[in-house]
Amino acid sequence: MEKYADLLDLAQAHTEREIQLRIAAIQHHANSGPGSDFCITCGEPIQESRRRHVPNAKRCAICQEAEERSRNPVRRSAA
Ligand SMILES: [Zn+2]
Repeated sequence: MEKYADLLDLAQAHTEREIQLRIAAIQHHANSGPGSDFCITCGEPIQESRRRHVPNAKRCAICQEAEERSRNPVRRSAA
């Protein structure tokens, strides 16, 4: 039955690799996917021109700006 066990190991390893690849793909999709039609912050539709300009945008211009400002609060003063 040793061969059978080897096959099981192989199948399991293959499945685990497959799962990891799938998780990576999902995470990649979440981080840099095709973006959203609606702003994830305020729920307003994202302008088509903005979506064309920023294909993976998940926020409208206003919320994106607010998000970036809250993430990097006035970097210049640090210098
Ligand atoms: Zn918004």
